Amino acid sequence: DTVIVLFNRDLRVHDHPALAAACERAGRVVPLFVLDPSVAAGRRSAFLGECLRDLRESLRDRGGELFVRQGETVAETMRLARETGATTVHVSADVSALARSRQRRLAGERIELRRFPGVTVVPPDLLQPSGGGDHYKVFTPYWRAWSQAPRRAVADPPKRVSVPEDLAPGDIPDAEPYGIMRGGEQAARARLDTWIKEGLDDYEEGHDDLAGARTSRLSPYLHFGCLSPLETAVRCDQEAFTRQLCWRDFHHQVTFAFPELPRRDYRPRGHTWRADAGALRAWKEGLTGVPIVDAGMRQLLAEGFMHNRARMITAAYLVKELKIDWREGAAHFFEHLLDADVANNSGNWQWIAGTGNDTRPNRSFNYLRQARRFDPEGAYVRRYVPELAGLPAPAVHEPTGVRGYPMPL
Ligand code: FAD
Repeated sequence: DTVIVLFNRDLRVHDHPALAAACERAGRVVPLFVLDPSVAAGRRSAFLGECLRDLRESLRDRGGELFVRQGETVAETMRLARETGATTVHVSADVSALARSRQRRLAGERIELRRFPGVTVVPPDLLQPSGGGDHYKVFTPYWRAWSQAPRRAVADPPKRVSVPEDLAPGDIPDAEPYGIMRGGEQAARARLDTWIKEGLDDYEEGHDDLAGARTSRLSPYLHFGCLSPLETAVRCDQEAFTRQLCWRDFHHQVTFAFPELPRRDYRPRGHTWRADAGALRAWKEGLTGVPIVDAGMRQLLAEGFMHNRARMITAAYLVKELKIDWREGAAHFFEHLLDADVANNSGNWQWIAGTGNDTRPNRSFNYLRQARRFDPEGAYVRRYVPELAGLPAPAVHEPTGVRGYPMPL
């Protein structure tokens, strides 16, 4: 028989249970990616294109192909099923409202849909809190359960992928390059190897050092699935780091249980947000007059990436200081981040806004103290805010009357 493997954000051949199972059981496999205008990748189009080209190369190395089609995902999948006589579709189960509505629609078609794990380390519905409820609302108990949860075996990449003959591969469009990372499984695996050799041991000590950039920068690869989160957790067996992978799983299991997370307050606390288009614009452009905030916002625009500590500081500044709705900030991050991710972005924004899972929703943030602690030499600010490049620390964090740099909002 023939099985379609419908790729989405699992763009790899290593540890891909849906692909491995198809290659094991089916005579012919049709690896498919649909460029669906309803999920346009925006600035991430070039990164996505690199991922697809790389996946195509890996499949061709194994005698296979990546078939690329444009259009509505379910319609294109069913069209290819008719063309190839496929009776089954394999997908990696995903958590967002959009992904799940697509899986539901596929399940309603005249084809067998089989869902496989692979998007998170631990499947989002595996762990049930002992006190009741369908998901964990607080991180620490989740972390405890997650650390002890059974893990499936890491799947080997298929040795051979037998695809139907005479089927047009389809084009992968070019796009404007964007951001500081290049897409694809090979780039991802190279980065992971380097990280394990050179970065991981220093992670606990260095992860909050803004100027040092001593974090893995694996997030876009984990988002697009160029890396398996399970394989990453197994290979990076170090507590401070796996704890962050657990945060990723945590927000995914919340999204699975509460798919409105990108739009609705998870724990409504009666916030009233201010409408202030001018302040919002200044925040987006990195012109608030608070150097540590502006540095973070400009890193985002320059690199398509922002250090986690800077994401926390800039997000807190928007919601706690400017009192602007977290959804405005989340939308801007989503537009510009290479690792933009429905679960992680919304979950973290709600955490900062105090409408999410933080057990201390009224936590206060002192921007100057954060700046002095995590950018003690001022190197992060000087790198991204050239107007302040001539100032030493600590003055760089509290500039007064610097020509061309705004007063604090
Ligand atoms: P590392 O520190 O090396 O961590 C390793 C991996 O763990 C990351 O690649 C990521 O997959 C995961 N991780 C780390 N921190 C978190 C976290 N707080 N929540 C969930 N997963 C985490 N991450 C995204 O992947 N996409 C987003 O859209 C996103 N939006 C965010 C918005 C805000 C307001 C905040 C505060 C954080 C957001 N994060 C998001 C989480 C985090 O900032 C990034 O995952 C991290 O900075 C990526 O860099 P890294 O790969 O070097 O991380």
